[in-house]
Amino acid sequence: MKSDFTYDLVIIGGGISSCVFASKYLKNNITKKIALIEIGRGLGGRSSTRISKRFKGWKLNHGAPNFNISNSKNNLLLKNYIDELMQNKFIKIDDSDICFLNEDLNSETQKKSKFTCGVNYLSLDSMSQLSQKIIESNNLKGKIDFYFETLIVDLMFKNKEWLITSKNGHKFKSKYLICSSNLLLHKRSLKILNINQIPLRKAIPINYDKKIDSILNFLDKQSFIPRLTFLIYTNRNYSYKDFYSKKQRYFYLGKNLEKKYKFERIIFQLQENNKLGIVVHTKNIDFINSFINSKNEEVFKQKITTNFNKLFENNFIVNKLTFDDEISIMKWRASQPSGIAVPLSLQFSKKYRIGFCGDWFEGEGFGRIEGSILSALILEKKISDLIK
Ligand SMILES: Cc1cc2nc3c(=O)[nH]c(=O)nc-3n(C[C@H](O)[C@H](O)[C@H](O)COP(=O)(O)OP(=O)(O)OC[C@H]3O[C@@H](n4cnc5c(N)ncnc54)[C@H](O)[C@@H]3O)c2cc1C
Repeated sequence: MKSDFTYDLVIIGGGISSCVFASKYLKNNITKKIALIEIGRGLGGRSSTRISKRFKGWKLNHGAPNFNISNSKNNLLLKNYIDELMQNKFIKIDDSDICFLNEDLNSETQKKSKFTCGVNYLSLDSMSQLSQKIIESNNLKGKIDFYFETLIVDLMFKNKEWLITSKNGHKFKSKYLICSSNLLLHKRSLKILNINQIPLRKAIPINYDKKIDSILNFLDKQSFIPRLTFLIYTNRNYSYKDFYSKKQRYFYLGKNLEKKYKFERIIFQLQENNKLGIVVHTKNIDFINSFINSKNEEVFKQKITTNFNKLFENNFIVNKLTFDDEISIMKWRASQPSGIAVPLSLQFSKKYRIGFCGDWFEGEGFGRIEGSILSALILEKKISDLIK
């Protein structure tokens, strides 16, 4: 780990928005020294893939399984970028089956969800690989210093320079700072990082910059949807009842069904080893709390299997699970921003040399990958000229 190293630009976060930002920014500013700092072990953030040591060969997209662009017709920036990802063969149109389960547990194929409207895209590899490929495009990966498993806990702005400190005491200096997550701007940081002041507020006191005050005010009203995802590593013989062979298949539950079975959607993911992985999402708060309070995880896992089997009892496509199928559980404390979105006009403060991107900005893509990508593209356009 390099200590006290000075960069032209440091990016906090390794999700898809920072990858899009970094690849575009470097392409236009090839000589700049850039660092990317991420608490996780790799790239992808909330659109990443679980590669388990225990279940060799399995790759389950446990956050966003794919993404949709609700409307790119009027947005040339977004349209051109999606075209670029298609031409590079990083993504393809996702023509997987989307089944909406109605009250009678029958499937309808009409698209109704905010995760399915518009055009749906699938990573040609895993979702983590998509972020990886984006940042590798144009052979730029070697130009970035990556610091994984590094949690930033403190920010300071002094003499026109950012001093960024990680939990393990490493310090990074940078002329410019990009935050692709709003953790260091939001009150949830107090509990998560066990600190007594929001890091950005500490770095830039109130009334020093109207934009910073505004962004913090907006975020004070932004909340987050928690989610649990259950990753089901099915037995060797588990398959569909029909001959479906596409990579993914989605089942969405209507509101009443969601209430009854506690599941929001179920995504079947065909593995390279031809086994069928299943990822079940829930945002039912009582169910999430019952997991948190559960003294016995095994009993909770059995409940998931029971609910799954009841849901698909008479289904023509989906077979029941056996109680031998292995389940692992992933808890997302802040899976999606909700409520108030931050205006894009607050994305960059010239005075404090700080920019922001991610799915927490306003627009049709709020809370989704669409918003992450678009905010990164807009931010890059805004600051590229200023930083030259
Ligand atoms: C279960 C689930 C299902 C979803 N389904 C869909 C879907 O179907 N379609 C869709 O479009 N979207 C979906 N989403 C939302 C989508 O995943 C996000 O909108 C998108 O991935 C956000 O990308 P990002 O780069 O903006 O943020 P993130 O992916 O959150 O990236 C920010 C990164 O910053 C890192 N970080 C934060 N603070 C620090 C710090 N202090 N120090 C170091 N690192 C830090 C985080 O670890 C993270 O990797 C889903 C999300 C979840 C969790």
